[in-house]
Amino acid sequence: MKTYIAILRYALRYKTSLSLSIFFNVISIFFSAVSLTMLIPFLQVLFNRTNPITELPPFSLSAQWMLAFFNYHIGQIMLNEGPIAALLWVCIIVIVMFFLKNLTRYLGQFFMAKVRNGLLRDLRQDLYDKVISLPVSFFTYRRQGDLISRITTDVQEIEWSIVNMIEVVIKEPLTILAYLTLLLIMSPELTLFILLLLPITGFIIGQIGKSLKKESVEAQNLTGRLAALVEETIRGITIVKIFTAEQLLRNIFQSVNQRLYKARLSSLRKRELSSPLSEFLGIVIVVVVLWFGGKMVLSGSSSLTPETFITFVVIFSQIINPAKSFATAFYHIQRGMAAAERVMEILNTEDSVPQPKNPIFIKEFKDRIKFENVWFAYDRKNFVLKDINLDIPRGEKLAIVGPSGSGKTTLVYLIPRFYDPTKGRITLDGHDLRTLDIYSLRKLIAMVPQEPIIFHDTILNNIKLGKPEANMEEVIAAARAAHAHEFIIKLPEGYNTIVGERGLRLSGGQRQRIAIARALLKNAPILILDEATSNLDAESEELVQKGLENLMKGRTAIIIAHRLATIKEADRIIVLSEGRIVEQGTHEELLRIKGIYASLVTKQNLTNVSPLP
Ligand code: ADP
Repeated sequence: MKTYIAILRYALRYKTSLSLSIFFNVISIFFSAVSLTMLIPFLQVLFNRTNPITELPPFSLSAQWMLAFFNYHIGQIMLNEGPIAALLWVCIIVIVMFFLKNLTRYLGQFFMAKVRNGLLRDLRQDLYDKVISLPVSFFTYRRQGDLISRITTDVQEIEWSIVNMIEVVIKEPLTILAYLTLLLIMSPELTLFILLLLPITGFIIGQIGKSLKKESVEAQNLTGRLAALVEETIRGITIVKIFTAEQLLRNIFQSVNQRLYKARLSSLRKRELSSPLSEFLGIVIVVVVLWFGGKMVLSGSSSLTPETFITFVVIFSQIINPAKSFATAFYHIQRGMAAAERVMEILNTEDSVPQPKNPIFIKEFKDRIKFENVWFAYDRKNFVLKDINLDIPRGEKLAIVGPSGSGKTTLVYLIPRFYDPTKGRITLDGHDLRTLDIYSLRKLIAMVPQEPIIFHDTILNNIKLGKPEANMEEVIAAARAAHAHEFIIKLPEGYNTIVGERGLRLSGGQRQRIAIARALLKNAPILILDEATSNLDAESEELVQKGLENLMKGRTAIIIAHRLATIKEADRIIVLSEGRIVEQGTHEELLRIKGIYASLVTKQNLTNVSPLP
């Protein structure tokens, strides 16, 4: 129910269109009811059974009055101009009525198009805005493909259910009500009879709907899994091939695909059952009505005339359609609600790294970053950082080394508040990070990750990412300092060259240098650097190194170091092991104590080329 209301709230943003749509739909129902009752005078003329009333009853907005109105006028025409003329008039009126009915029906849909499309646009936008604002931790738990499928497929699914919801809530019930009123006027006995039969059919159809929802949830989840698998495969295609893991991945895909097939098959079959089942049930009711009504007419025991009875059956048959679409809409809604729940789940995710209520805005970094007894666990149980105490004065170049999995990345990720410490606190110039405005904190930090992310856009825009307002001179200056300018101007369109899918057309070293230029342009006082472990060729490595040196000048740098060169230059080195700082000092000091660091260096010297782990 909460989900219904949430979706409805989106629709209510389009109040005008929504009201207009409802208005025209109601008018359309009115016209269709009137056009059907025209059948009575038509049949009367045809069978020459006109029994014209001589006087028009006083006006009222009732179907009875409408019937009398037509009866009177057609009767008059019959008397004055003959049956052919009367027939012609009936035909003209029917055409006009049907024209108006369809015109208003179209207008109803015309305005509804805006509501459903607008609702969809807003929902997509809100989802994207939410996704982009979610903390980093969210993305490691949710698989990316699943997220994508929620934003695309599920939102689409909601569209269907929304349209149907409006039909279910407004149009069909009104149509049914209008027709039932007409029927009631024509023959109360028969109508009561129908009213007894309808709920039974409704119940049968409702039962199928329930089980359909369950299967839809399963199918949607599996669709998400599939999308995630495809995404991972495409991203890791080189790894898949080099490890000849094609068959393995095919098997995984196949098994999920098969499960999706089964879930879909059963839900599709149930859904397809709804239409024939409701048609059949409808016809059974019609036949029952024909039997009882026919008997009433034949026995002459009631006031039911043959033409009224025929019209009654025709109108009644018209109820079947809205009742049927009511039922189908019901199925769609069940599916749509399953999708809506998945979408709402994302929209309602709470931020695990919340912006403080009264944030402190900082403009500059003046003094120091301090880790005070910081403990951190991704799952709140297994600590990957243990009792970290670290004082990083402004301007220091701090290198972090340690075996893989020792917590280096986690430690640096705490500084831009990708995560919050589980215990203890981190301060910047004495302010707990959790009290700072998160954006103003991140404005102070630039980062060059191990695998630079290059977006599918021009080189220029890629460099300007952190400072979109930068002018060309600034961009070029940054690119020069990053030793990227030379290769950029050799590209086909220089700075306006669009980087291919995931930056594939650039070499590792070139991507590194773009990332460095990006960080240089941002000109933030704090720098987080995760050195690339992938081996760059000697020339590239030298250029990257030079770029990094330029980048580090005058900044506070925290470097996850893999290369001896960087380490030697560092003001201080900390060695992490299983989440604890086990050694710290300068290169020489650490060599002297002959601990973990010394052994790591020996290893690197021996192999000479391989970076530290
Ligand atoms: P390093 O950078 O030194 O290789 P990390 O900081 O990446 O180490 O990882 C430290 C530990 O935390 C590892 O045991 C790793 O498995 C775990 N870890 C890293 N990221 C996550 C995550 N997003 N969720 C859960 N555990 C994680």
